[in-house]
Amino acid sequence: MHKNLSRLAAGALVLLCTGAFPAPANRMILPDDVVPDAYRLEITPHMAESTFEGRVEIDIDVRRRTNRIELDSADLLISSARLDADPAAPRIALDAKRQRASFTFAHALAPGRHVLRIAYSGQINDQAAGLFHLDHDTPQGPVRSLFTMFEDSDARRFVPSWDEPARRATFELAATVPASLTAIGNMPIASTEALPGELKRVRFAKTPPMSTYLLFFGLGDFERVHRDVGGVDVGVVVKRGDTAQAAYALDAAAKLLPYYNAWFGTPYPLPKLDMVAGAGGSVTFGAMENWGAIFYFERDLLVDDKRASEDDRRRVFETVAHEIAHQWFGNLVTMAWWDDLWLNEGFASWMQVKAVEQLHPEWTGWANDAGEKQHAMDIDARRGTHPVIMHIEDVSQAEGAFDTITYAKGAQVVRTLEAWQGDDTFRDGVRRYIARHAYGNTVTEDLWRALDVDTPRPVAAIARDLTLQAGVPLVTELDARCVDGHTVVALAQGQFSIDAPRVARWRVPVKVAVLGGGQARAVIAGAAPQDVTVPGCGPVVINAGQSSYARVRYSAAGLAALVPAFGRLGVDDQLGLLADTQALALAGRLPMGELLALMAGVPPSRGNPAVAQLLAAQLQDLDRLHDGLASQPAFRGWARALLAPFLAEVGWDSRDSDSGDVRTLRVQLIEALGGFGDARVLADVDKAFERVLEHPDSLDADHRDAVLSVVATRADERAWQQLHGLALAAPSELEKADAYERLGRARDPVLAGRALALAISGEPPTTVASRLLRAVGRAHPGLTLDFIAGHWAQVEPLFGEGAGATIAARFFDTGADAALLPRLDTFVRAHVPAATRERIVKNAAVIRYRAAVRGQRLPEADRWIAAHAPAA
Ligand SMILES: [Zn+2]
Repeated sequence: MHKNLSRLAAGALVLLCTGAFPAPANRMILPDDVVPDAYRLEITPHMAESTFEGRVEIDIDVRRRTNRIELDSADLLISSARLDADPAAPRIALDAKRQRASFTFAHALAPGRHVLRIAYSGQINDQAAGLFHLDHDTPQGPVRSLFTMFEDSDARRFVPSWDEPARRATFELAATVPASLTAIGNMPIASTEALPGELKRVRFAKTPPMSTYLLFFGLGDFERVHRDVGGVDVGVVVKRGDTAQAAYALDAAAKLLPYYNAWFGTPYPLPKLDMVAGAGGSVTFGAMENWGAIFYFERDLLVDDKRASEDDRRRVFETVAHEIAHQWFGNLVTMAWWDDLWLNEGFASWMQVKAVEQLHPEWTGWANDAGEKQHAMDIDARRGTHPVIMHIEDVSQAEGAFDTITYAKGAQVVRTLEAWQGDDTFRDGVRRYIARHAYGNTVTEDLWRALDVDTPRPVAAIARDLTLQAGVPLVTELDARCVDGHTVVALAQGQFSIDAPRVARWRVPVKVAVLGGGQARAVIAGAAPQDVTVPGCGPVVINAGQSSYARVRYSAAGLAALVPAFGRLGVDDQLGLLADTQALALAGRLPMGELLALMAGVPPSRGNPAVAQLLAAQLQDLDRLHDGLASQPAFRGWARALLAPFLAEVGWDSRDSDSGDVRTLRVQLIEALGGFGDARVLADVDKAFERVLEHPDSLDADHRDAVLSVVATRADERAWQQLHGLALAAPSELEKADAYERLGRARDPVLAGRALALAISGEPPTTVASRLLRAVGRAHPGLTLDFIAGHWAQVEPLFGEGAGATIAARFFDTGADAALLPRLDTFVRAHVPAATRERIVKNAAVIRYRAAVRGQRLPEADRWIAAHAPAA
């Protein structure tokens, strides 16, 4: 799944981890005395009534004599059940709380094969769980489409089933639907039969054995564009009229599929691969990797050539790369239980960057992904973090596993291991793992076993350290001495922690480089300092290439030698030095002046767009922390002076020679400098905005994005109304979603209040309204929290089941005011079930930390700026 992870994402559980060992007794899974082999499923949706009927035949294997069959079922009404040809009906019991249905028979069932037949009915939901609908406007009125979303555990809302990833089975799906509509399943259509009443019955071919959460059904007035890619029919399915916007994703898939076929060494196994677009968006996810029928919200799949920025294209490419990677890591080989979700998500998040490096080198893969790594390390240093492999007892906890630790730290773990083993050795190990476990389920140890065949650099010990314990390793350079043309570097390892429990020791593989000299590799382990000898003498770079998941702290002399050499470092190392210095300074381990001096020393250049982007983001974050402080104008003046030369270097206007990264950087610089009140940028923005109002297509997509974003942030009453006009007139669902979200960015609290009221007015579609609320939450956490608490009856339906937990875990994380904490606590007690409250710990830790930084670290930064700012 491609999650929309906010700066802080869905929650965490602070529990001991059992790692890769057998299921603990307290894991709430179905009994294994009866297991499924095959489902033959027929459904009839009633779109207008939001209900459906279902009939399922399940081939089961009774392994031990029992008179009871228990399976997962949620919000389904079971009308009848029969076993084999037995005319007697079992006693049916439903347990709504545990989402279980049980069938008790008068006689014990003999071990062996049986067929269980169930007739039932269910609901078509407003939210993306189970079978759900999305509605969009057309000139002829609203049109409804249906889709399914089953991860982590919502297939049980569609079919009574063994809804656990390890219970693989085949699926033969059939649906009775209006003859005019198009139905999509995991597999190609095997047959279509016309029925009376303008209906048809569509039967899809049988799937391979797979987990329930990967089943898919879609229905709507769709068009499909497709292409043969090495014998696989690759398609993009869109609502009628959108085919032009499908070309980009189809091209992306046509490049990715052969690349993955070769890299994984096992070809994509299904005859077709569809990518299905649904209108709107979600605050929780962007796409879902259903086998052979990937679902995406439109903004993660469609590209309108006239309106898409470079950032939009990159987001679509990465999402497609992520989801197609899952067809192997997740679908062909699936984790046995949600403890090991990182095997799916960490790997797919790593693979999407690897694919960018190979297929779009102009986007500087890992350098551009540096923000994700920093975000993971920030969370991992605080209370509420958890090991990559986390203990999940039941499905109510599983949702909490879809977070930044699982995705972004998981990706960094894979990156660390690949760098340690070398690309080819690592790839061969993954090929072994895929071949060995195809159509099967695994635990993490299976991956380590496959990687550690015939290699001088085994990973298991290093990998267990990184996945079974939470926290960020810290490598400290104690000193470096030049001896006979070599540098002897003394290194120690510890933990970078803000308030995370300090328990961990790691084996940290690092590369140590001497600028102008050579490099050496070592594994830093244990408590005692360790010497690493590197050829040559000069400034020393620790974790050169930044491929290891660790922060680095330099000695005062080491840092002093590196700062003037900043421009000679590789881009990854420039990013690492900036990020580590920021983290250490904000945590009080380095003077703020060291950070600000380093930032001020970054040379403006078109050659390192990723570095300038990180710098701009760091300045924007420091600016947010200054919100409401008297020192903010002085900070902004300093930030403007620092950043303006970068925009001068890149230029306001696009050039044909611009790389993708330069275009993205330009947008960010305009947004940042506009936010800091740079007079020249604001004048250009105002002029460009006037032109957009007159001629919506007068700007290219990148400038349009930047200009509208600056206008939205600084909006006054008139500009806000103009932006609202753009939202109402937006020509596509895609643009409408972006336009409404912008209305939530205004700094003016009166306009923020109006945006909140607009979100629950019924004017924007539900999926857009939830994103609008989150946008206001980022700019005005306190105001938004109070509004949501005060309008719960209207807000809750926008998010559906688990609304309180979703909001509490995904909103307010830009807050830096300790007064927010008791209000958040009150909200959580009122709207979040006790069982999922642990997820909120992490969010509260962010707010507490930001408040502390604001109170304790900003004054030091402000004094430094006062002493170093150029005279006004
Ligand atoms: Zn995913």
